[in-house]
Amino acid sequence: MKGRLDWRDAKVVRAETIAADIRQIEFDVAGGVPAFQPGSHVTVSVALDHGRAERSYSCLPAPAGRIRIAVKRHEASRGGSRYMWRLAEGDEVRLSLPENRFELSWQTRDYLLVAGGIGITPILGMAEALAERDARVRLLYGVHRRDQLAFDRDVKASLGARAEIFVAEDGGRIDLASAIDELAADGELYICGPLPMLQEAKALWADRGRPSSRLRYEVFGDSGAEPERPFQVRILNMDITVGVRPDQSLLDALDAAGVEMISDCRRGECGLCSVGIVDLNGRIDHRDVFFSEEEKQANTAMCACVSRLAEGEAVIDIGYRG
Ligand SMILES: Cc1cc2nc3c(=O)[nH]c(=O)nc-3n(C[C@H](O)[C@H](O)[C@H](O)COP(=O)(O)OP(=O)(O)OC[C@H]3O[C@@H](n4cnc5c(N)ncnc54)[C@H](O)[C@@H]3O)c2cc1C
Repeated sequence: MKGRLDWRDAKVVRAETIAADIRQIEFDVAGGVPAFQPGSHVTVSVALDHGRAERSYSCLPAPAGRIRIAVKRHEASRGGSRYMWRLAEGDEVRLSLPENRFELSWQTRDYLLVAGGIGITPILGMAEALAERDARVRLLYGVHRRDQLAFDRDVKASLGARAEIFVAEDGGRIDLASAIDELAADGELYICGPLPMLQEAKALWADRGRPSSRLRYEVFGDSGAEPERPFQVRILNMDITVGVRPDQSLLDALDAAGVEMISDCRRGECGLCSVGIVDLNGRIDHRDVFFSEEEKQANTAMCACVSRLAEGEAVIDIGYRG
């Protein structure tokens, strides 16, 4: 069910390290690039040790015909970001034209933008677009270390004092609760950052009775609370046990075993690939933003695309009734 992507050849025209763990890469795309809205991302075909895979990257504002992205380096990973970091001027890649699942609504008077770390990439274009239209907007951008700051000058140039930067090693911390309280009743929050930040925002938003339609977020699906270990699932009403490797998601392992699943976003947002947990002997590392904290603690379901067992085994219900 994943949307069909429109693939193009593209050539790297610029690649530079702009922060300790962030590399900016600009591509010239064969046939040009249609105008895209802030929040859009492209998908790049990357080479991993064991074959090719796809990784998505948010589009930064760029000159016509170009795609500009910024990639965080993940050391302990399957290798997508390492591949991107190796790209140099003149290298050729396949990438998709931009698609957008994190759109600005343009429906409110008061915008709060929040970015954690590399989550600044979709937020930067939003800040520029809102500043150009003179919208009421406040941006909060947090990083752990000073040398991880990227695009801080750009957001300051667009928003001036309305862009606030927080560096944890200097004692800075985003106060999400106060920022939400200061937002107009019909205001909207756009947030991109690590999973705990999104979970905090979702909980605060719900506590205050604000409508979920006015909280928009994007997850990069690239972090969990525990390291990836192998685990096993047995499928209810099917005589199948599936082993999941550390470098595989549960959804990919089920697909590979020929178990038919429906899925869409593949990053823990839509919940389409969720499976029931009938019996659990182990712990689940819930990495989605689809289920509430209460639902996660109940451990009765999990999103197969991003969540995994930290250890042990489980019997899962994929809805098959024989
Ligand atoms: C819409 C969208 C936009 C994005 N935009 C950006 C962007 O602008 N910049 C950017 O840097 N990234 C972005 N990402 C993330 C990016 O697509 C990649 O996930 C990221 O580069 C990591 O890829 P990787 O192959 O290096 O790491 P992965 O192998 O995917 O691992 C990343 C992290 O996930 C964990 N992990 C490792 N193995 C597994 C596994 N088997 N299952 C689950 N988790 C595992 C580890 O903690 C690891 O550090 C975006 C993702 C999405 C969906």
